[in-house]
Amino acid sequence: MSLNTGQSLTVSGQDLTKNGSSSSRASWEDARTVLKPSTPTRKPKPPKPENAITIAVSARVLFTMEKEQQIYEQQGMEDYIKYQVEHETEPFSPGPAFSFVKALEAVNAQLRELYPESEELFDVVLMTNNHANVGLRLINTINHHQLFIERFCMTGGNSPIGYLKAYHANLYLSADPIKVREALEEGIAAATMFTPEKMTEVSETQLRVAFDGDAVLFSDESERIYKAHGLDKFFEHEKAHENKPLDHGPLKCFLEALGKLQKKFYAKGQRMDCPIRTYLVTARSAASSGTRALKTLRSWGLEIDEALFLAGAPKGPMLEKIRPHIFFDDQMFHVEGAAEMGTVACHVPYGIAQRVTKRGIWDKETSSAPK
Ligand SMILES: [Mg+2]
Repeated sequence: MSLNTGQSLTVSGQDLTKNGSSSSRASWEDARTVLKPSTPTRKPKPPKPENAITIAVSARVLFTMEKEQQIYEQQGMEDYIKYQVEHETEPFSPGPAFSFVKALEAVNAQLRELYPESEELFDVVLMTNNHANVGLRLINTINHHQLFIERFCMTGGNSPIGYLKAYHANLYLSADPIKVREALEEGIAAATMFTPEKMTEVSETQLRVAFDGDAVLFSDESERIYKAHGLDKFFEHEKAHENKPLDHGPLKCFLEALGKLQKKFYAKGQRMDCPIRTYLVTARSAASSGTRALKTLRSWGLEIDEALFLAGAPKGPMLEKIRPHIFFDDQMFHVEGAAEMGTVACHVPYGIAQRVTKRGIWDKETSSAPK
C-alpha cells in the first residue's frame, strides 16, 4: 500500500517543483501560509546540490513518529491523516538521525565562517512518502527544532531513487530496508537506521562517523573467503594479497566526501581540532589482516582518523567510548550490539553477510507504512 499514490512533490528552498497532481501545489502553498508565523527569518542559503554533500534522510529516522505509525497500522490512513492534522502544531520529538543532522549543521556553521563564499557544505534533504497534509507538521517540527532543512522530497509512496539521483545524494538514511537496498543497487551509499532504546550523548561540535571495513568501506571479497573457508584461509588470503588494494564498498564515497571537507579544515590549520572525525571499527586484527585495510585506504588517497582493529571482539563497548553520531556495519549482530550500548547504528544491506541475515528483522521492517 502506498500513501497518497500518484503524488510526487519536491520543495527546494523557495522554489516549488511539481511532479505530480495539481492539488499538491495548493497543499504546499496552504502549508506555507499556515506556518508562516513560526518560520524563522534568518536561515543560511542552501548550497546547490552539485556542490553540496547531500544527506537524504527519511522523516521516520529524523523524528520519532512511533505513535502515529501505530495509528496508521491499527486504524488506517484516514484516522492517521486526521490525527496528524489535529496535532499539526505539536512538533515530533527527535529520532535517531537527529543528532547526526545537528552535527552536520554544526560543521556547516564552522565551514561558513572559514569559507563564507563556498558551497561545499552538507545539505540535508528530508525524504518522506507521507501525505502532503502531514508535511505541514514536518515543516513545523523543523522550525521548532531550528533545523536548516530547506529541501523536502515527498515521494508519495514512489521509489526515492530518482530523487536521490537528482539531488546527487551522497548518503541515504531510511528505516525501510527495501528502499535502502534499492539505493545501494543504484550505487548510492545508503543504510537502514535503527532506533536504540537509549542513546549515548554525543558531541555537539564535532561530527563523529564510524565505519566497519569489509562490505562497508571495502567490497566483501575477503568476507567471502572467510565465510566459505574459515578464519585461517582468510588470514592466509589477506597476507598473500597485502599489496593488492581491496575493491571499494558502498560507503567508500561517503568517507571520501567527509575527507573532502576535512581537508578544508586542515588547510586552515585545523587538523587536530577538526570538527569531523572518522573511525574504522573492524573485526580484522591488526597484525594479520589490518595491513591490507590500511594500504587500501592509502591507495585511495583517503585518511581515517582512528583505526580500531578488534580481532573479533565486540564492537559495542568500543563504540560506546568513541560516541559516534552514526555507525555503519553490514552485519546485523554488530548493529544490534552497538545499538544495545546506545550507539545509533545503521545496517548496510550489502554483500555476502546478507545471506545469513535473520529473517525476522526484515519482516518487521518492511511494512509499507509511512516512513
Ligand atoms: Mg563487515
